[in-house]
Amino acid sequence: MSDVPNRMQELRQALSDLNREILDLVGRRIALVDEMRALKLANGLPMYDPVRESRMFEALVEQGQGILGEAEIRSVFRPIFEISLAHMEGRASGDLRIGRRPGESDRVLNIKGGTIGVPGSPAVIAGPCAVESEEQLERTAAALAGMGIRFLRGGAFKPRTSPDAFQGLGIDGVKMLRAAADRHGLAAVTEVTDPRQLEDVAPLTDILQIGARNMANYALLQEAGRTGKPVLLKRAFAATIDEFLLAAEYLAKYGSSDGGIILCERGIRTFERETRFTLDVSAIPILRQKTALPVIADVSHAAGRRDLIAPLAKAALAAGASGLMLEVHPCPEAALSDASQQLSIQEFQQLLRELNVGVF
Ligand code: PEP
Ligand code: MN
Repeated sequence: MSDVPNRMQELRQALSDLNREILDLVGRRIALVDEMRALKLANGLPMYDPVRESRMFEALVEQGQGILGEAEIRSVFRPIFEISLAHMEGRASGDLRIGRRPGESDRVLNIKGGTIGVPGSPAVIAGPCAVESEEQLERTAAALAGMGIRFLRGGAFKPRTSPDAFQGLGIDGVKMLRAAADRHGLAAVTEVTDPRQLEDVAPLTDILQIGARNMANYALLQEAGRTGKPVLLKRAFAATIDEFLLAAEYLAKYGSSDGGIILCERGIRTFERETRFTLDVSAIPILRQKTALPVIADVSHAAGRRDLIAPLAKAALAAGASGLMLEVHPCPEAALSDASQQLSIQEFQQLLRELNVGVF
């Protein structure tokens, strides 16, 4: 009995020694990771490699020799891998990849000669809700270019509430958008709703849009991130700001951080029925506090009615949005989708005049 305390002392000492060894080993692992970071940077490779990560887990589970169960092995190594990845990505573990670093100024994207993210110089992404015809796009693109607008939007894969509503022209519509944008020197912005569209759509567009209904489509976020294209991510209408940021974090983790991410507040669902959604103006400064990414507002989908576009656009810019998304159609009453919120070209020009943006 009397040597129990002695044995305990020995065990405690041995455990403490092992702790130090483990710490030393983790430190050595981090040193290797830092070297890997430099190599990946030099070769333009993504920091996160999910295949490699799952192979490392599998090897560890196989080599576990029955001392620890699979779940235990994974829970020992998961935080080690997480800390390693954070080092590789040059951030503190637990910090958002898209988080604003202390003192970091706003990130600015330059796309096809247009800039997004300069406070006080709002970017305007305008165009029809849906691509409907070459003529519709030509009239819109020519007018926008004449007003100094640099970004042409148009949905070709439309996420519609009813399966019987116009679903968009698909890849043919994307090609029309590309051609109209090219004729007028504009950047093209179009929505993708399914990872399978990316192979064809990504090369034809300058900014991929992920819409409110797909904000939490994590497979789509991963694949869109992997294309390395800039992504305009819209807030889902029932998502908290944190959920929105974590969706953007998927893009950054899988590769978009260098290509660029644009956050878009587009209204959330509340009990109010006068408007289609409620533009969450406070989300704009909050997002800008938490990240340095460009934050824009789509006031067309928020309002759902054209008479509120101007006041909401002013409110969004006053709250710090560095851009606006606006639906513009040469003949809104004939639009195949969102007819009640699209501005005519004349109304759009009047709005630019009121906002003192572009050439009017
Ligand atoms: C759109 O911009 O075409 C669209 C469908 O918007 P949201 O995803 O915000 O509803
Ligand atoms: Mn629309």
